[in-house]
Amino acid sequence: MSETENIALRIKKLRELIEYHSNAYYNMDAPEIEDDEYDALMRELRGLEEKYPAFRNTNSPTVKVGGAASSKFASVEHAVVMQSLRDVFSMEEVEQFCRDFPGSEFVVEKKIDGLSVSLEYTDGVLTRGSTRGDGRVGEDITENLLTIASIPHRIKTDARFIEVRGEVYMPRRTFAALNATQEENGQKTFKNPRNAAAGSLRQKDAAITASRGLDIFVFNVQQASGVEFESHSQSLEYLAECGFPVSPEFSVAHSYEEAAAAVERIGAQRGVLEYDIDGAVIKLNSLSLRQSAGVTSKFPKWAVAFKYPPEQKETVLRDIEVTVGRTGVLTPTGIFDPVLLAGTSVSRASLHNQDYITQKDIRIGDTVVLRKAGEIIPEVVSVAVHGEGAPYQLPEVCPSCGEKVFRLEDEAALRCLNPDCPAQLLRNIIHFASRDAMDIEGMGPAVIEQLIAAGLIQSPADIYLLTEEKIASLDRMGKKSAQNLIAAIEKSKSNDLYKLIYALGIRHIGESASRLLAGRFGTMQALTQATADSFASIDGFGEVMAESVVDFFSTTHAKDLIQRFANLGVNMTARSGEDENSSDKLQGLTFVITGTLEGMTRDEAKALIIANGGKASGSVSKKTSFLLAGENPGSKLTKAEELGVKVISLDELKEILNG
Ligand code: NAD
Repeated sequence: MSETENIALRIKKLRELIEYHSNAYYNMDAPEIEDDEYDALMRELRGLEEKYPAFRNTNSPTVKVGGAASSKFASVEHAVVMQSLRDVFSMEEVEQFCRDFPGSEFVVEKKIDGLSVSLEYTDGVLTRGSTRGDGRVGEDITENLLTIASIPHRIKTDARFIEVRGEVYMPRRTFAALNATQEENGQKTFKNPRNAAAGSLRQKDAAITASRGLDIFVFNVQQASGVEFESHSQSLEYLAECGFPVSPEFSVAHSYEEAAAAVERIGAQRGVLEYDIDGAVIKLNSLSLRQSAGVTSKFPKWAVAFKYPPEQKETVLRDIEVTVGRTGVLTPTGIFDPVLLAGTSVSRASLHNQDYITQKDIRIGDTVVLRKAGEIIPEVVSVAVHGEGAPYQLPEVCPSCGEKVFRLEDEAALRCLNPDCPAQLLRNIIHFASRDAMDIEGMGPAVIEQLIAAGLIQSPADIYLLTEEKIASLDRMGKKSAQNLIAAIEKSKSNDLYKLIYALGIRHIGESASRLLAGRFGTMQALTQATADSFASIDGFGEVMAESVVDFFSTTHAKDLIQRFANLGVNMTARSGEDENSSDKLQGLTFVITGTLEGMTRDEAKALIIANGGKASGSVSKKTSFLLAGENPGSKLTKAEELGVKVISLDELKEILNG
């Protein structure tokens, strides 16, 4: 391939990559790479286009403002184009910019990392608000903007019309709280505050926007009739008088040196501010000078945005601490000599898993480079110098209980599978006593927590050693409740075997799979001795499930636990006769399962279908009878619709089975 062809290919590739990430960032509000990685792609493309002007193109991302107006909202044509800013990454470039306007004043502002909006006021009343979109056409989001408390609905102004530009952002604390709630509710979390702000503002339902605690800083008068300004700083002061939260602590500089000092001051604050900034903006102050400086298709020539490099520091890794989470996952955390990064002292960073440690070859005693990803989460960039340590391996046994740990297929993490592991005890007991498992009425999370705290339960088997007196000794536990709880515990001893199997909380083994196991093996003893091959004959039982069962019963703890249950009188056999949940109601029907089903894993749904005589297949074809679809169904749904395959929900499947 000739050199020209190579360059053409690289430019094409870069444009495709940038378009892809711009779409993820601006339109989907779901960036997949860090901003500095995106900036590096853009810089490389700009460099190539400058060096080889023959490849310049009016459609290149280097000359377009990113984003597009979505059809979810009415479109707004911007009378004054909402441009982007020219990024610079060195102070030499800032100096060059200032030297191009000798003797001029500059305004230096924080570059707020949010999303750009326009607010239009007619006779002092907010009449329309919109997003930037592609700079020329944005989205009408007036209703959403009206929910932001700090945006004035009415201002005191002599201007008959004034359009103000600002940046909507989500304060860091609000972001942290929002992500915590999203996680608790099992909803997707946001990558960073900017992304959360964009996702919250571009909602069809303004009530959602209202609940997200957004805020704004305004930083420009786009156009006005009835008021006039000579300088930018004057217009900012005017906006503050009108009651807007204005670009915080902006300063006027009379030389490059003063501008540089302001840029440095802002840089020093960046980690400790209540909001994210991704740079400092240096703007000409005089509005008439701006006029003569002009604009390019993408940005004004009278301003530059200085992007701070992600702060990186070297430090020594002193230790790797391994903790066991609630789900048994082993998490390694690096312990470092403390360093100041983006405003806070950092001495710990997650090392995620063995693959991460091996890829970067991180060893105890190494000097490593640390940075804060997205200015928030500390991470190891690379190893600068190896110390004396050997390559690091995560322990083979659980640091909490000492049992062997396993790496399950498709997972990067190591897991402790021991059901008695103290790190997982609470979660396991809650599951054990729950309705679908051993169904011990009155044994909810609060009671279990108390029992564990009082040292009365260290293993699920200890439940069967509880007495009325022991339970009655707990806070807020009367004699009657203690009696009822003991009765419920006694009753659970005669549960069918499948309930006990399910109660053990074996990974990938839900209720339906437990029924299949109970049906196939008949006794707990037979199940504990099963080899991986013995599962092959169970229809609807995948390899991953089989391995998980074999791994589980290979631990001494599991063997002891089962023995204790048996000694304490817990039923270990399956009820004879037909499993109440199996039938031939789905005979001759083929199902494909897609998406997230509520209250059941896909494996469990598959087991349920098979137990009732149906077939489960992995891909949709004309032969498919039903597509069983949950949330986020993906391409299988499209395929089913194309082929006219009937789509049903889990509830509908249950209806078929019940009736
Ligand atoms: P920009 O965000 O770098 O700069 C322009 C924006 O700055 C304006 O829209 C304006 O609203 C805002 N701004 C904030 N405070 C300001 C102030 N005081 N004065 C003037 N403007 C101010 O430019 P852009 O073209 O919108 O976006 C590029 C940025 O987005 C880069 O930082 C890039 O890293 C990031 N990005 C990231 C990805 C990704 O995948 N991670 C993809 C696309 C873009």
